[in-house]
Parts: sequence; C-alpha cells; structure tokens
Amino acid sequence: MRLIIFDVDGTLTRSTTVDTLCYERAVSAQLAVPIDTEWSSYRNPTDAGILSEILERHGIPESPSCLAAVRHRFLRILSAALATDPHCCREVPGAAAVIEYLRELPDLQLAIATGAWADSACMKLRHANILTEQLPLASSDDSPSREQILRIALQRAAARAGREFDVVTYVGDALWDLSAARYWGFRFVGIACDNDGSQFRSAGATVVFPDFADRDAFVRPLLTS
Ligand SMILES: [Mg+2]
Repeated sequence: MRLIIFDVDGTLTRSTTVDTLCYERAVSAQLAVPIDTEWSSYRNPTDAGILSEILERHGIPESPSCLAAVRHRFLRILSAALATDPHCCREVPGAAAVIEYLRELPDLQLAIATGAWADSACMKLRHANILTEQLPLASSDDSPSREQILRIALQRAAARAGREFDVVTYVGDALWDLSAARYWGFRFVGIACDNDGSQFRSAGATVVFPDFADRDAFVRPLLTS
C-alpha cells in the first residue's frame, strides 16, 4: 500500500501570490506591524508558524484570541480576494485530473499536508475545483511545524487505511517540503510550476515536474518501487 501526500499552495493550486498578499494584509491590519514576507526566513514557514514568529519578533504576547483574530481576518480577506478575482487561484495544470485519477487506483491512499490553515487550504482547493473533500488532511491548525503536519497527515491516512504504508511520497513545490520529506525518509516529487526546478535539482531531488499536465509521466515514478 502506497501513500501520496500533496502540499496545496504552489503544488495543487497556483495561489501563492494571492495567499501571500492576503496573509500580509490580514497580519498588518490586525497587528499593525510590518511583516517580512520572505517566508523561508521563518523557523516554521507555515501560517501558524509565521504568525507565532511575527508576534515574537515584535514582542507581542501570543494568545488564543489574537491567533484566532488574525486567522479569521485572513480567511475573510482571502474569500473576498477569490470572489473579486476568480483567476487568482487556479489549479496547477492537470492537478484536478491527477487527483481524480489517483483516487481510483487500488493499493493507494492520498492525503493533504499543508502549511496553510485548514479552512484556507480547503477554500483554495474548492475554488480551483480540486476534489479533495474526503481525503485525510493535516494543516497549520494541527501544528506550526511542517514536519509534524506531514506526520499527522500520515497518521490520519494510516487510520483511514487501517494499516501502515510501504512507500510514502510527498509532492511539494518548496525546498521546505523537500526537507520535511527527507526528515521522515519519505520520497519526494517536486512541482516547479513557477520556475525551472533547478532549486530542487541543486538540493539533490531527482524527480521534478513543471505541473501535472503529463499525467502518466507524473504517475509513473509514484507507482514504481
Ligand atoms: Mg507550497
């Protein structure tokens, strides 16, 4: 039995630009502080991890009500942005079809592991018409750490399948995804829809695709041992 875990932003959905913009707006409006949008500079580059570190950098005490207020504001801003410009969040070419195809294969489970908050990830997936509603999902609501989010996605998928997996692959678009996959000894497939993928190759990742347009090419390395 194999498990394939997908990241969301930049992997299944072309939503990184709108996501960054809305996140920045929400945090600035709620906390009235400037924010550094170089996400790789944060210890945990996830919605929850970045927010914690912004609070820490500005000496603002972290409280459940503060976190909830930013999260709520972000979701409102994101929802309005998607309604205003429906094209700001599209599927990465072929993503919806590949998920639909993989869901039907025997001896294979799918799961979602995203650094976004769950409501945000689901909103973007729905908007891009990618059908993932019934799949196990772990998000920034579970942990600020991408490694832990990945572990929780694995646990939920194993609980769903009623058994452990022989091979686990994480499909992601960022070096932090590669690093999280390596942390657990998972295989990694890079999606480089906005660049030439050289960042992955320099980091030693050997399986990289621009998108999912060539479904068979994408699926082949996932299903061979
Ligand atoms: Mg991503």
